[in-house]
Amino acid sequence: MENETIIRFGVFLGLFALLATLEALAPRRARSQPRSTRWVTNWSVTVVNTLTLRALAFALPLLAVGAALDAEAQGWGLFNAIALPLWLEVVIVVLIMDFAIWLQHLVTHKVPLLWRLHRVHHADVDMDVTTAIRFHPVEIALSMLLKIGLVYLLGPAAIAVVLFEIILNGTAMFNHSNLALPAWLDRIVRLVLVTPDMHRVHHSVHRHEHDSNYGFSLSIWDKMFGTYIAQPKAGHDDMLVGLEWQDTRPSKLGWSLALPFSRK
Ligand SMILES: [Zn+2]
Ligand SMILES: [Zn+2]
Repeated sequence: MENETIIRFGVFLGLFALLATLEALAPRRARSQPRSTRWVTNWSVTVVNTLTLRALAFALPLLAVGAALDAEAQGWGLFNAIALPLWLEVVIVVLIMDFAIWLQHLVTHKVPLLWRLHRVHHADVDMDVTTAIRFHPVEIALSMLLKIGLVYLLGPAAIAVVLFEIILNGTAMFNHSNLALPAWLDRIVRLVLVTPDMHRVHHSVHRHEHDSNYGFSLSIWDKMFGTYIAQPKAGHDDMLVGLEWQDTRPSKLGWSLALPFSRK
C-alpha cells in the first residue's frame, strides 16, 4: 500500500491531462471566462485540500485506506466477519460507498449549513475538468471523516477502498469536463455512469435542476430515487451554470474559500 498515493496521483494526473486535451479539442459549451483565472483558483483550492487531508492524516494515518487496514487488523466491520470472494466484496463495497457519497451529496443540498460549504463547488460559472477538484477544504475533510466511519463499519479489503477512490475521482473529472459526447454515446454511457450532460443539469442556476442528478459515478441512484432530470430546460447551450447570482468573483481564491461564511 506504500505505492497507493503514487498510483492514485498518477491516475489523477493522467486522466486530468487526457480530459483537458479532449475538452479543448471537442468543447461542449463556449466558456464565459478565460481558463487561466479559474484554473489557478481551482488548482489552488486543490492544493489547500491536499494539505488539509495531509494535516488530517497526522491524526488518522492513511485516511480511508488506512481505516480499512486498521479495521482488518482489529477484525472490525461487516466484511471482516463474513467470507466472500474478493471480487464480489470489491463490487459490493464500491456500490455501497458510491451510494453513500450520493446520499451525502443529497444531504449537502438539503441542510443549509452544509449547502454553504458545498455551494463553493457550484459557484464555478464555467464547468470543466477543474470543477471536479473545486470543493471547500472543510467539505473535503467532513467527507473524509464520513468515509472513514463507513470503512470501519464495512471493514472492506483495502484494495476496494483504493479502487473506489480512483473510480470516484476519475468519473468526477469525466462528468465535469466540458466534453461534447455524441448523443448516442451519451445515451449508452448514461445507462451506468454519470455523463457530462447529466451532471451539467446539476450545476444549473435553477434550484429544482441543481437539486437533481446527485450522482458522481453511477447514474443508477438518481433514477432509482426519482431525482433524475435528463436534460436542462433551457438546453445545454443556453442554460446558466453556477449560483443564481452570476458574476466573476467565484474565480477568485480568497472569495471562494470565504464563501461559506459570507452573508449571501
Ligand atoms: Zn451539488
Ligand atoms: Zn459537480
